[in-house]
Amino acid sequence: MHLEVKCPVHGSRVRLVSKATSRAELPADFLIRCPQGGEHLLMHPSDVYAVSDSTAQAGLSALGAAIGLLGGGAGIVVGGLIGALLGTPRAREDQEMARRFDESHE
Ligand SMILES: [Zn+2]
Repeated sequence: MHLEVKCPVHGSRVRLVSKATSRAELPADFLIRCPQGGEHLLMHPSDVYAVSDSTAQAGLSALGAAIGLLGGGAGIVVGGLIGALLGTPRAREDQEMARRFDESHE
């Protein structure tokens, strides 16, 4: 799981370097720099949302399958293997952590 905020002007997503597992663990306000416009943005814990890294893997799995369709069977197998990892306890735990963060309060 990792944490992100979104620039309200450009909509660009900024990944936070934080190990916080709930919004209460974040500072009351903090500055981030928009990667697109370079402006500084004052953010609050309520602006932060969690992204499960196993959700990111789901994208990779779809990509693996797409490569498989182009290049033959091996890619489909790789895509399938990555897809299988999504069902592992670690992936479910990560999704659960992300869900708990999103439901947490400041
Ligand atoms: Zn911006």
